[in-house]
Amino acid sequence: MKHTLPDLGYAYDALEPYIDARTMEIHHTKHHQTYVDKLNAALENHPALQEASVQELVAALDTVPEAIRTAVRNHGGGHANHSFFWPLLKKDVAPEGEVVAAIERRWGGLDQFRTEFTSAATLLFGSGWTWLTWNGSDLEITTTPNQDSPHSQGIQPIMGLDVWEHAYYLKYQNRRPEYVEAFFNVINWAQVDANFRAAR
Ligand code: MN
Repeated sequence: MKHTLPDLGYAYDALEPYIDARTMEIHHTKHHQTYVDKLNAALENHPALQEASVQELVAALDTVPEAIRTAVRNHGGGHANHSFFWPLLKKDVAPEGEVVAAIERRWGGLDQFRTEFTSAATLLFGSGWTWLTWNGSDLEITTTPNQDSPHSQGIQPIMGLDVWEHAYYLKYQNRRPEYVEAFFNVINWAQVDANFRAAR
């Protein structure tokens, strides 16, 4: 099974002005495509592993041969994370559903959650991801460095934000907090809610 770049499911300019079309196009067709290509290259001489989904691979890195483990962690993680990320983005979706109720219970309100998530995303040093995760009994805000996947730690991502500079530099340059603020205008809460219900 060869891994392939998934369709975005929307146009590159669908998230304007919050996330610009050029960034989306480069992010999808160059960055994500490169993770897919390098994952396929790493798996080339490992036919048994080619049957596994990318999520299965990153969830069981210790079973991946050491010679390609770092490549699968980085490029498999990159493929898994970006495939999860694209459907989370949509304009004009109202925050509602079971997940919003659970966030309000956990953080005392959506604004408090937003403040904490923004803080985690802003303080994350270097490249990585900020996540809303389900740990089996509660929601949490977590971060991973580089392209590490929450699945590698046995936790379920519900929502995630790519805070690599390639995700925002063309429009926001060094202003990561503005990009995080913009993200809150393009969260597809219906997808977040579906992820939450599936994880529970
Ligand atoms: Mn990215």
